[in-house]
Amino acid sequence: MSARNTAFAFLTLALSPLVHADLVVLQYHHVSDATPPSTSTSESLFEAQLEMLGDLELEVVHLLEGTRKALEEGATRNSVALTFDDAYESVYTTAAPLLAARDYPFTIFVNTDAVGRPGYMTWDQLEELASREGVTLANHSTDHGHLARKPDEPKDQWQQRIEHSLDGAQRELEQRLGVDTPLFAYPYGEFDAALEDHLSDRGWYGYSQHSGPIGEYSAPTRLPRFPMANAYGRLDRLKDKLLSRAFPVDAGDLPDGVITDNPPVLEFALPEDLSTSGLTCFASGMGRIDIESVGDGMIRVQAPAAFNSRRFRYNCTHPAGDGRFYWLSQPWLDLGQPED
Ligand SMILES: [Zn+2]
Repeated sequence: MSARNTAFAFLTLALSPLVHADLVVLQYHHVSDATPPSTSTSESLFEAQLEMLGDLELEVVHLLEGTRKALEEGATRNSVALTFDDAYESVYTTAAPLLAARDYPFTIFVNTDAVGRPGYMTWDQLEELASREGVTLANHSTDHGHLARKPDEPKDQWQQRIEHSLDGAQRELEQRLGVDTPLFAYPYGEFDAALEDHLSDRGWYGYSQHSGPIGEYSAPTRLPRFPMANAYGRLDRLKDKLLSRAFPVDAGDLPDGVITDNPPVLEFALPEDLSTSGLTCFASGMGRIDIESVGDGMIRVQAPAAFNSRRFRYNCTHPAGDGRFYWLSQPWLDLGQPED
């Protein structure tokens, strides 16, 4: 871009109200009626979800391009990116043809050790998909391990485990398929701050499994995605998700989610133009929870009872105008609970 064009673009931005549109990333595993319901989206629901993207005239974009744009640039409409974790067979047999028919790009996060096992795609199938326009293959670790450092794990041992898991998968994708994208999905959506540093060092984006759109307030190594398995992807709640806006609180200021207290406390600064009375927060399995104003615009949220699971969330929304919602999701991780 010439200096003159840059100046012009800057002037245009400065003169127009900068409406920041966000990227909504949908997260799938199986698209099938025959796989475990908790990680599956039925074929009919999947088709109905795609139908809704068309009805809302949302642009379906490449994950990398869409993420960069959502973090850095202004736009006026939300866009959507579709992602599939674990490279299951039904993505090849069922989802891919439906997406190809609509020319929708999508990304598959591959845990490389599982490729070729029963129920998973083969390297040949992945190679064929990789050659198609609009299909991105990306890193989901080698072994699908729990990658946050375990409470009793020596640091150097953890470092070695992480390097094998992150770099081993990246290398294998590159050697076998010629793929090298800076996209990583945390297995189980689990991460801690030290793992985020490993991603930052590599210049990778890290996608988790807490809900919410990606926007200017998001942090590159803890990017949210909306889970779309049957129980979460219901059509009656999908529109709010597709049109949601990133909550105006810097995600980098929120905790990494590894809990020290149970139930954990979430504190954040509510921007002046939002009101405590408009804020609604929910905790996993507990429904709506209380919000407390603790002065200086700070909000304090804490569930009323301890959680007995490894992963859970606090989700908060606030009206954003035009029937849309700001959406904040805080993932929590209890490393004291057994791994799945
Ligand atoms: Zn996975």
